[in-house]
Parts: sequence; C-alpha cells; structure tokens
Amino acid sequence: MADEESRATPLETRIWDIPSRGPWSLALHGGAGGRIEELSTESREAFEAGLSRAYAAGRTVLEAGGSALDAVCATVEQLEDDPLFNAGCGAALTADGVAEHDAAVMDGQGRAGAIAVSRHAKNPVRVARSVLEKSDHVLLVSPSEQLVTEWGHEVRDQSYFVTEARRVQLDRILNLTLTGPRHGTVGAVARDVHGDVAAATSTGGMAGQSLGRVGDSPIIGAGTYARNDSVAISCTGEGEAFIRGVVSYDIASRMRFLGSSLRDAVATTFAEELTAKNASGGLVGVAPDGRVVVAHNSPTMFAAFEDHDGFAMLT
Ligand code: ASP
Repeated sequence: MADEESRATPLETRIWDIPSRGPWSLALHGGAGGRIEELSTESREAFEAGLSRAYAAGRTVLEAGGSALDAVCATVEQLEDDPLFNAGCGAALTADGVAEHDAAVMDGQGRAGAIAVSRHAKNPVRVARSVLEKSDHVLLVSPSEQLVTEWGHEVRDQSYFVTEARRVQLDRILNLTLTGPRHGTVGAVARDVHGDVAAATSTGGMAGQSLGRVGDSPIIGAGTYARNDSVAISCTGEGEAFIRGVVSYDIASRMRFLGSSLRDAVATTFAEELTAKNASGGLVGVAPDGRVVVAHNSPTMFAAFEDHDGFAMLT
C-alpha cells in the first residue's frame, strides 16, 4: 500500500537516460523510499560508501571482461552484506520480527533463478543463482538450510539478519508512529563487453509485511527481467503494484513490440502501471546497446551509475 504521504502528493517520475559510455555498463539501486529517517550528513556518507563499494564490486568484474551475470551478483552480494540496505543482513522484518528474503537473477539469454521466503542463506542472490545453474526450476520457496549448504553457500541464523535499526523500524510501524516509506530492496543491471545483459534483485520486502508474503523481486517479469534483445531491469517499490503491472516485462515488451526507446517505455509503464494507481517505486535498466535508465516516482531512491560527468549517486 502507498503510504499516506505519497497519497497526499502527486507522484512525480524522475528519469535519468544515459547513452553508453564504454564497452560495459552498470547501474545499481539501493531501494526506493527505503529511508528509515531523513538522512543526516553522517548517514548519507555511510549510504554513499555502501553504494560505491557495491558499484566497485561490479565494475571490477566488468573491467576484467567478466559476465554481466557475475557483475550483478557481485554488486548485489555487496549490498546484502551491508546492514544499511534492505537485503541480507539488515533486511526489513515481517510483522513477526523475522527476516524473510526474496531474490532473483536473470541473464540476457533468458535463464532465470529465484528464491522467496528464504530464512537461512547469508546471500540470497547466490542461492537464486544456484537455482538458475543447478536446478531445472526458476523459483524455489523457503529453500532449506540443507539445500543452501549443499549448494555451497553460507547459512546464518536470524540474529545475523535482524539489526537493531530494523527492530526499531518495526516497533514504530506496529505502534503506528512510522507512516513513511517502509520498503527498500537492492538490485543491479549490467551489460558486459560481450554484449550480454543481466539483472539481479534482492530484498527483505516491506517492513511489517505478513509472514510468507512474497513481493515482486523474485517474480520474473515483475521486479526482475533480462533479455538480450530488449533490456535488463531491476525494480524496487510497492511490490504488489509491480506484480499486477508486470512492470519489467511491460517495459521490455514496449521496446520489443512497439520499438519504444528504453526511456519512453519506462515513462509510459510508470505512468500507466504505477503513478495512475498511486503506487511508488523505481528501477534501473540497461539496454543491449549499453544505454542506462534510472527512474523513480518515489520521493527518493538510492542508486549508483555513470552519468555524463562520471560516477553518480542518488541518496
Ligand atoms: N519491491 C519490494 C517488495 O515489494 C520492496 C521494495 O523494493 O521496496 O518486496
């Protein structure tokens, strides 16, 4: 549900549209409207440091000629390990005070893997990638501790994921003293030097959500999507609206079937599927030619990408 503040004011969409700046492209988001508080200078610096580290992790892969899939996974993993962002350690909590994670990866060849309601994996994005690489499935719900370990990934108990800041946020939501945005999510898109695109998304979902609720992030075509003939997209925002509008597939379809540019496709889908329905969120997208689009109609979004003037961040 949109919060009261965003209902009171019209949602304005902001779009950055950046032509390819070299042989590879990378953009990440750290969640739309995920701020727990208005940022102090100190916390802004901490978020910026986290975004920079994550961008650097992906850039290192791409500069070495690595795949877009490796790059988006490295980027998202870094954000999952950072307690400031709503994924992995520091994920938003369900109404019961538990961290349940959703994650997805997809490459431009159409291979996809996702998990939902994950409680044990330290890095949900790694397990999503294992679904892609080691199983015949696309989406696994509640991957067991045993399976996560068998696939070679680290497990943690809930005390690792649940931070004090998230406990306070949940208390305030349950006491109705926090009415502002309560979502977040992290994600990345990349195009590599070989011309392949990929997307990855990871989240703890909406703070205070029901146990077992699954958002858009692990739903292929909603919060995560990639195709080498159109676009790779990772979304953040009010998941139910992104699922109903099949937002990332809607954008890809506008590009494929109508010949829309990435920017125009994003603008139209936002207007019709989000703003018109009073839902807020954002995304990062990359086209096969390396063009990057960063967009949000939420009041804020954390993001990092390369702009005309070099490295840029939104906080
Ligand atoms: N889209 C996520 C979800 O609905 C939350 C978010 O991105 O803020 O689970």
